[in-house]
This record gives sequence, C-alpha cells and structure tokens, in this order.
Amino acid sequence: MDMILRLDMGAEGGPKATTGPLGDYEGLGGRAMTSGIIAKEVPPGCHPLGEDNKLVIAPGLLSGSAAAQSGRISVGCKSPLTGGIKESNSGGQASQVLARLGYGAVILEGSPEDDTLYKIFINKDGVTITPDNGLKLLGNYDLVDKMKREYGDKVACISIGPVGEMKMAIASIAFTDMEQRPTRHAARGGPGAVMGSKGVKVIVLDDSGTKRRAAKDPDKFKEANKRFVRGLKKHSVTGEGLPAYGTNVLTHIINEAGAYPTNNFSTGRFDEAARISGETLAQTETDRGGKATHGCHTGCVIQCSGTYMDKNGKFLTKQPEYETIWAHGGNCGIGDLDAIAEMDRMDDDFGIDTIEMGATIGVAMEAGLAEFGDARAAKDFVKEVGKGTHLGRILGSGAAITGKAFGVERVPVVKGQAMPAYDPRAVQGVAVTYATSPMGADHTAGYAVTANILKVGGDVDPLKPGGQVELSRNLQIATAAIDATGYCLFIAFAILDQEDTFQDMLDVISGFTGAPLTGDDVVALGKSILTNEREFNAKAGFSPADDRLPEYFKKEPLPPHNVTFQVSDEELDQVFNW
Ligand code: SF4
Repeated sequence: MDMILRLDMGAEGGPKATTGPLGDYEGLGGRAMTSGIIAKEVPPGCHPLGEDNKLVIAPGLLSGSAAAQSGRISVGCKSPLTGGIKESNSGGQASQVLARLGYGAVILEGSPEDDTLYKIFINKDGVTITPDNGLKLLGNYDLVDKMKREYGDKVACISIGPVGEMKMAIASIAFTDMEQRPTRHAARGGPGAVMGSKGVKVIVLDDSGTKRRAAKDPDKFKEANKRFVRGLKKHSVTGEGLPAYGTNVLTHIINEAGAYPTNNFSTGRFDEAARISGETLAQTETDRGGKATHGCHTGCVIQCSGTYMDKNGKFLTKQPEYETIWAHGGNCGIGDLDAIAEMDRMDDDFGIDTIEMGATIGVAMEAGLAEFGDARAAKDFVKEVGKGTHLGRILGSGAAITGKAFGVERVPVVKGQAMPAYDPRAVQGVAVTYATSPMGADHTAGYAVTANILKVGGDVDPLKPGGQVELSRNLQIATAAIDATGYCLFIAFAILDQEDTFQDMLDVISGFTGAPLTGDDVVALGKSILTNEREFNAKAGFSPADDRLPEYFKKEPLPPHNVTFQVSDEELDQVFNW
C-alpha cells in the first residue's frame, strides 16, 4: 500500500491515470486517509458535484493482510447531502483486493467534459480507463454480472447504480461481497452522486498474481491475531448475538428499551416488532434455504451477515441490517419482512442509502403521501427514486429536502442527514453523537448505545443527560481511529469490555507495522482525524448551531418513557473540547 492512484476524469484529451508515492499521506489508512486528503486538497466551499470535489477510496491500514476483521474500505468526499466532509465505510472484498494491489488510495478528481460513462479496470499490470455508455442506467446487479462476464469471477467491483448516475444526494457506492454480489455499500451522505459526477460507473479490481500483505513482525502479528480472534469469540455480542441473529438482534432490545423510532419518530415502541426481529429473520432465512450466519468479506470471524431468500427459495438480498429493517419497517409502520427485503434489494440495485431512504419514506408518510404501514406505497416510493421521476428526485434528495418540499416540521435530520434507528430522546448518548458528529446524524460515529442500552463498556442512564457528552466524545475518538485501521467496527464490543482484547488489537497493529502502539496513540489518531474533519466543516460554513438536534426532540415527549432530549447546547459545545 505504498502508492496513490489519481484518476483525473477531466484531463485534457480524456481521463488520465497517474500513480505516485504516498508522500504526505504515508502511514495513513481508511478514514485517516480519506479525511486527510479531503481536508488538504478539496476547497471546503466547493460544490460537491463540481470539478474541485474529489472522491477518495482508501483501504484500512491492515487491509490485505491476514488480520481478522480488517476488510473495511473508506470513501471520502465533500458530501452532497450534508455539505460537509464525509467518510462512509463498507465491507465487501474491495478493501483486501485494493490493498494487495498496492494502493493506499484511489482518488477520482476533475470533471468529465461530457456525459460519457467510464469503467476502470485495475490489476497488477496497471490501470485501464474505457468509455462504455452501454452501462448507462444499469442496476448494480446487472452491472456486476456484466463485469463478471468481461473480467471473470474473481474480480471485486466498486460501482454506482442509476441513482448515482442521476447524482441524487442519497446515492450509495456498492462493493461486491465474497459471492460477487453488490450487497455492501458506502452509503451515508451520498458518495455515489460524487462518483456519478466524475462519470465513473464501475471500478473493477483484479488482484491475481499479488500476495497477501506481510507483517513487519510476523510472529508478534500472528500470535496477537490468534488471541484477538479468541477474544472476539468469547464476548457475548461478537461471539453469540451477532453471529446468530446479525445486527437485527437489536430490534427486540431497542424496542424493549422504548427507543425504537416508530412511525417517523412518533413513539419508541412498535407493536409489530416481533414480526421483523432478528429471531424471526434468522428463522425465515434458514427455513427458506438461506444462511443466518455469514461474512461480508474474507477474514471476518464474527459473521454478522446472512442471505435472504424469497418465498420460492431464490436469493433476494443479503441479510438486511437492523438499521435497514427499521428504516423500511418500524419507522414506516411496516411489519412485513418480505416487503422490507424487497426494498433492501431495490436499494442495493439502484444504489441508495437504506437509512436515508427509509427515513425519507417516513417523512413522506407524515406529509400524507401514504399511510403508515402501507408497504406497497413504500415500495413504489423506492421505485420512483430508481426511475428518477419528479417525485423520485425529491425523495432521492433525502429526508430534509422531502420535508421542505411537503411542509413537514417533524424531520429527523442533523446537518441534512437522517437519523438512524435509535430515538435520540431515549438513547441520549447517541443523540449527542447525532448532534455533534462532523458526519451529520450517524450512529456509527460514536455508538453510545453500548453503555446506554447494552451496558457494554460502562453503564450510563439513556434517559438522562448526565455522562452523555463524555461517553459520546470517547466513542467518537475511538471510532475515528478504528475507522482508519480497516477493522470492522463490531470489534468495539469486545475491545471495550475486555482489556486483554484491546491490548491484543494494539499488538496486531504493532506487529503489522513494526512500530510500538499504545492506547494513547489510538486516542491521538482519533483526535487528529476529528480535528481535520471539524476544521473542514468550519471552513465550509458550519458553526455550533449546526451541532444541534431538530427543535421538536426537545419539546415533544417520546412514549413510552415520555422523555425529551435533555442535554443542553452548552454541554454539546463541550464534546470536542479535549
Ligand atoms: S462482522 Fe458483519 S459487518 Fe463486520 S466484517 Fe463480518 S459480516 Fe462484515
């Protein structure tokens, strides 16, 4: 991983690829790489779809090695949805493959002269950029099938669907999984629209003839990795809950806690939760011949994913995540797993952020465009986005724009990005993260559900303001650092709870790089990433007034606890005061 590949899509005479050394970005990976490049090279005031924005795709620091759980890939840009800096990361095979090909980052820059669509092929021999307008408006599934026919069944693809081509602000970037299906997405904040603005439909990666990345201290690395895997397996969340039921294990837990946003964040309990729970999902999957336990990339030992078959036993989609099931389910009053799985498939095919899509449907239902619980109408809304109809273009701009277009006050967004599956009034630590993360409302940026609800890594009352700022601050710092390594964030459950597993993680990284690493180094890395991101946002025009939840969360009590958001503005302004 000692090269940067720059693809200038606006070069004179046509797109041009240039490979160079890492230079200033030496030693960075994942989110540290993407946010470092965006903060340094992208003018904060630029238009997200203009020539000055860049799309950076970066494997994690450990990707391509034998380290377990290290296949996350980061995508960075100025976000078309929030107008701020964006890092969105994904599983799938691309991170491992890109790292083995030797690239620390691929940067799409410039603006194409016309609307020609390009495919890019990268292997050990170099880079080929080819115009291919035959790919226009293909869904991700058909596109990947076409790439397999052209390049073989071992390649990994990074692609956009029609929604990215149409440059809508909820467009995702798809990454193929181990079965070469486009089921993993860097979705939040609309990075697919930026890829579309560069005229790139797909990047095909082939690592044939390359080797696994070697550790500097192979013995230390190997031993620490073994201990680390044992630590993951012995923790109840990473060793039992996630493998058995996937992330959707949370439906019962969050619903029971009264924090499950239902009917566009109107109440914290959904009567039909049992119909869409992790337990029901796993049973449905196995009954139909799918898998309830599966990895999204090679080297995953937690295996929180699975495969969802339709009623005839034919593959429909990967196991939809908890947030996806909530977004299209309880948030819209829909308790029908098959309808939710169909929407998940459409989202993946069109290239759409499932959280933003579901939250937007909730706002559309609040506006009276359909009744809560109407699964047919919800599916039609997703189809409108995929087709790019006039209504679809509004919905495809996200919950905030949809709320404005239809005159809705109750719009659950921060910095223009929709909130995920935890009501901020009943999980006040995650509410602090929603309010203050440079990414906009994002549960993964500082997952305080851990100490608030799951009692992992501490115990902080979710319904009261005390301790939430410190909790969110510490988690945002730790998360930023983990996002740089390529590690799947789900390792956090084990490293927060088990000191020895945290030390094992440090030893894996240190064995790989050959340099010593302490907990303080991890904190310093996390702080430096957040500082870069906050500085970019400040220059882009963000102020403390943007680090706030919508007003109604402070005024409207949430049943069943009848609680409002209690953390004061003054406390929110202390999150990054370290
Ligand atoms: S735990 Fe889940 S999200 Fe993480 S790498 Fe494994 S399958 Fe992917």
